[in-house]
Amino acid sequence: MKRSIVYLVGAGPGDPKLITVKGLECIKKADVIVYDYLVNVELLKAARPGVETIYVGKQGASHTLEQDDINKLLVEKALEDKVVTRLKGGDPYVFGRGGEEALVLKEYKIPFEVVPGITAAIATPNYAGIPVTHREFTSTFGLITGHEDPTKNESSIDWSKISTGIGTLAFYMGVKNLPYITSQLIKHGRSEDTPVAVIRWGTTFRQETVVGTLSTIVEKAKNVKPPAITIVGEVVKLRDQLNWFENKPLFGKTVVVTRSREQASDFADRLYEFGANVIEFPAIEIAKPDTIQLLDEAIQNIHSYDWLVFTSINGVDSFFNRLFELGKDVRVLKGLKICAIGPATAGGIEKYHIRVDCKPPKFVAESVVEELKNVTVIKGERFLLPRADIARSYLPEELQKLGGEVTDLVVYKTIMGQPKDINLLEKMKNGEVHVVTFTSSSTVRNFVQLIGRENITSLNGHVQFASIGPITSKTAEEMGINIAIKAEEYTIPGLVNAILENTPLITK
Ligand code: SAH
Repeated sequence: MKRSIVYLVGAGPGDPKLITVKGLECIKKADVIVYDYLVNVELLKAARPGVETIYVGKQGASHTLEQDDINKLLVEKALEDKVVTRLKGGDPYVFGRGGEEALVLKEYKIPFEVVPGITAAIATPNYAGIPVTHREFTSTFGLITGHEDPTKNESSIDWSKISTGIGTLAFYMGVKNLPYITSQLIKHGRSEDTPVAVIRWGTTFRQETVVGTLSTIVEKAKNVKPPAITIVGEVVKLRDQLNWFENKPLFGKTVVVTRSREQASDFADRLYEFGANVIEFPAIEIAKPDTIQLLDEAIQNIHSYDWLVFTSINGVDSFFNRLFELGKDVRVLKGLKICAIGPATAGGIEKYHIRVDCKPPKFVAESVVEELKNVTVIKGERFLLPRADIARSYLPEELQKLGGEVTDLVVYKTIMGQPKDINLLEKMKNGEVHVVTFTSSSTVRNFVQLIGRENITSLNGHVQFASIGPITSKTAEEMGINIAIKAEEYTIPGLVNAILENTPLITK
């Protein structure tokens, strides 16, 4: 069956969550993705492994590939019997040359679909606190190219009509021509006092907004570089009240997440909700243990234990995955009592509809021992501890001291991560990073190794270091890292709270 098809997809204005459901599906099913400068590369993470990605970015006048070559490329790839997703910033048909690409595909009889995207003229003013229409201010809204050559004899823009005939005007690609645009509008009857906003990199953490009037904006926005959109109209006044995005507590702040890739997303999502830019720098990776023989034996003999004690979600996942791989299910755990540190670990167990019998109030090993003492007589009880290779020895040792029989079982390994962001050190030195977060001692140790021990102490002061709990903080401080932000509750939400409470520390 022929699969050839090209999806011309609007990727939205920059915030990667502003793509449509259909657009995201097209990324997921693509064999080849051809993308532009304005497309947020975060979106490529949703693609299948092994997908071919081709950057054809256009940045102002410098084109990586000319439009004709892009057209040819789309045809060529589709003729190789591939699903091609052509990702474009904003909407493909709004100053995006999507019409031209579609016509070429039509000419070559290549099936295509066009997926609309949220265009910059609607999304970026929104994120700058400006609704493009409002009954009290305007009933009309126009999208205009600001790219027209001012020396051209005849303008294809009828300035006399748009200047006074349309309420809100959005100029794309108009940074260079701002003096020309504002003078044309004034010349053709628009009041000099009309409010204007120039928004750069709208909807992203780099968003910058400059506000003025038709007579002042040229001077005020003289340092603004593309890509920016210019919004002209009374609605700009609403920004004073509606500026929701730039007022988020972590807007403009960059936070580094050092957890493993699999575990980063929940944390990253919470930070994103508060407006932060998140850099994922997985300092650790979770791997299978060197041998699973001992785990298999423990599962075979599971009834020789009284307690299963989980200290991390990785321990839960590794244990249950193997249990299921061995063809068993949760019924084999009948009669065992279960203890879990922290809500994420307990949640991982409850997902299997298993009740957790013991949940220590504090999320450290010391609290586990205390709580177990409260709920059981430790002497003579048999404990299975499915844990990491590098887990602390406190828990098994204490339980043994109290007369418990303990099997400390390695069910996963923590190994060195392979972060893609190799410029992190430079970014931290340049002040482009505001907070680095540690969620376990191993994230600290591996981060130090990846960044270079010799570089660490010089970062204190440039970057705020945040830690999930006392053990992690201690490891960091032993390595010369000053922990300025400490979670009160030793969980990811607790760590996010601590960052929010310490935002005055986090200078831009
Ligand atoms: N198809 C795109 C527009 C492409 S033309 C869309 O529908 O949005 C490129 C111009 O779009 C830029 O010069 C700038 O004026 C505007 N633009 C696109 N994304 C933007 C963003 N995130 N912030 C500000 N302007 C943006």
